[in-house]
Amino acid sequence: MTTESDTILHFDQFIDGEYRQSTQDRRLKILSPATGELIGTAPDGTVDDLAVAVAAASRAARSDIWSDMDALERGHILRNIAEMLKSRLHEFAQLDARVTGRPIREMRAQLTRLPEWFHYFAGIARGLEGSVPPFKGDYLNYTQITPLGVVGLITSWNHPLLIMLKKLSVALAAGNTVVVKPSELAPLSPLLFAAMATEAGLPKGVLNVVSGQGATVGKALCDASEVAKIDLTGGTQTGRVVARLVAERLIPTTMELGGKAPVVIFDDTPLDEAVAGATFASFIASGQTCVSGARILVQGSIYDAFLERFAQRAKTLRLGHPMDEATQMGALISQRQMERSLDYVASAVEEGARIVAGGRRAALPAPLDRGFFVEPTVLADTTPDMRVVREEIFGPVVCVMRFEDEKHALDLANNHEFGLGASVWTRDIGRAHRFVRKLNAGIVWINDHHKNDPASIWGGFGSSGHGKENGWHALRAYGKEQNVVVRLSAGFADWYEDGGRYG
Ligand code: NDP
Repeated sequence: MTTESDTILHFDQFIDGEYRQSTQDRRLKILSPATGELIGTAPDGTVDDLAVAVAAASRAARSDIWSDMDALERGHILRNIAEMLKSRLHEFAQLDARVTGRPIREMRAQLTRLPEWFHYFAGIARGLEGSVPPFKGDYLNYTQITPLGVVGLITSWNHPLLIMLKKLSVALAAGNTVVVKPSELAPLSPLLFAAMATEAGLPKGVLNVVSGQGATVGKALCDASEVAKIDLTGGTQTGRVVARLVAERLIPTTMELGGKAPVVIFDDTPLDEAVAGATFASFIASGQTCVSGARILVQGSIYDAFLERFAQRAKTLRLGHPMDEATQMGALISQRQMERSLDYVASAVEEGARIVAGGRRAALPAPLDRGFFVEPTVLADTTPDMRVVREEIFGPVVCVMRFEDEKHALDLANNHEFGLGASVWTRDIGRAHRFVRKLNAGIVWINDHHKNDPASIWGGFGSSGHGKENGWHALRAYGKEQNVVVRLSAGFADWYEDGGRYG
């Protein structure tokens, strides 16, 4: 990596413990979505780059430098990585805020938690036990979990470091070697992190990061015969493509895909809390998170009062420069995402929805006038059949709907192809638990939203994908469980011996 000035970063691929030039000169230009300024560049990688990275990861997997290392020793290195990340959090938070256009306040809060993932998996990997199932006869029967080998991580742009590190911490703790294909829109922090992890003691070849496009580098990672698992975070369409690519080789996948989270607000929720909760659920990351509160379902008796206050709150959110500590909402990642959000607003109005807040590109002073800012947008009178309700937007556009009772709320919440995040707001403890048991969502909050923890499983149903991040579930899914049957009796009974035990 070379730094041309204080602010413009130029990376090469990170392969086999060092930065290496791509086999071609073409580069991805990373521009600030808030101002259009150049932040850095990374290789627009090739299939050949990917092959070299996979070869390095395979060599590392076959040697005894990582997979055979005692889990305690691996844990020391993972903890070193966590501590080094802690000491450089400011740098990574600034970089991801610049690349994504998200407020520094948000990015700092998110990244501050990341070292916990390394500490957590360093700890539980030491306790990764097999079992001793009973077996008829004089036998000892046990299971053991060994690393998969080389695993491929394909990640999205919305939380560049969080998404990569959630997957990486567990993949490494389980003893695998890794090739990461970060989003072409946000490869800088993954490439920076790889060198830092190596400095913290990760042996060369164990972590490789190849920047480039999904259709070339991402596809090549899925096609690579040495890769034993693909863990993808991305859109549902990409999930379908990746699932088809790897189906031929029958390797396991984890798919963290799209969502359209319902936020269900019952009328016993204090109005202030309901409004603050819905605003938090909907507008963090300008709505660019997979569990963003995109469908706000509100009980009829408080619907009008809620709508008025929610719209008012949305109108007062401060849009601004991502580096400004006062900024509450940043830019969208690209012109495409901005236009997509505004298209959905137009289609909603055409279908009969009413804009009660926002609805336009935000007018901000230079240099932010070149940025992709959309006003926090609240749509009322939306119905389940509207495109804006059916499809994931990934922007600050929120649909509000009215429900009359518990059953109606459940029908509205579950009437969707996605089953990822959901939150339920009520003071009635019985209703809360009764309701969530029937909710088709893999990640549910009661009286909160967005909260995440390394020990708390994360993953969706239906078009939101399959498999889980976090917790023991993820650790086990990064290993192969093998069953071993051991004969204890002294003499082996010969099956073919005439007159023998089986004769
Ligand atoms: P994309 O699906 O566009 O891309 C995700 C990754 O897949 C990128 O690295 C992309 O490469 C790569 N990719 C694209 N095509 C292929 C292919 N043919 N073969 C292999 N890899 C490919 O998603 P976004 O980056 O736009 O992220 C937004 C999406 O991610 C949303 O739908 C969101 O809901 C979902 N998401 C889900 C989360 C969850 O936990 N369930 C969390 C966060 C986001 P490139 O873009 O570089 O070309």
